Amino acid sequence: MTQDQKTTSSLIVIAFAFIISIGSCSHMFKTPYIDPALKPAFDEWVNQCELRGIKYKRDIVNIDSILFAPLEEGYWGKCYGDKIVVNKNDISPIDQFTLKLVLFHELGHCAFGYPHFEWGEDIMNSVLPQEKIIVYQYFWGILEDQYFYRYLTKKERRKLQKRLEKQDCFCILDEDKLQVKESN
Ligand SMILES: [Zn+2]
Repeated sequence: MTQDQKTTSSLIVIAFAFIISIGSCSHMFKTPYIDPALKPAFDEWVNQCELRGIKYKRDIVNIDSILFAPLEEGYWGKCYGDKIVVNKNDISPIDQFTLKLVLFHELGHCAFGYPHFEWGEDIMNSVLPQEKIIVYQYFWGILEDQYFYRYLTKKERRKLQKRLEKQDCFCILDEDKLQVKESN
């Protein structure tokens, strides 16, 4: 082989390796479209996942968009399985804390498969009343810890689901229509 042929063949190998790695990565973990208004909140969620060693990419692979759009009255946000909507009618785009609270809540359902938790203040409370937002903000560090502390991988969730089915308990894991705000 001449020097030229060697160079050409190694270039071909490198090109193939490159194409294959690009192809497999982008298919395995596509990222959802995220409305710019929700980008800072989403980035913080990602950051917290990474800090805690949570491989979140697998958990959001079925979500194709995260939107800041109008929802019917009575909801801060909703998780539809493949889509999260945060209610533009009720939250100001500059209210970064409420956007974050609601987005974490909906990602709790859509990405982590969390049900509601009603024991004391919790990001996953089914009702997050406007007048108590300040309390959630004050205790955010603790709330965030307890939110991520509950994390289970998809595999662990499936195991748990099976165990619950065996016990005839259909309590919590399949819920998807979630009221987040008291309608008054
Ligand atoms: Zn909810």
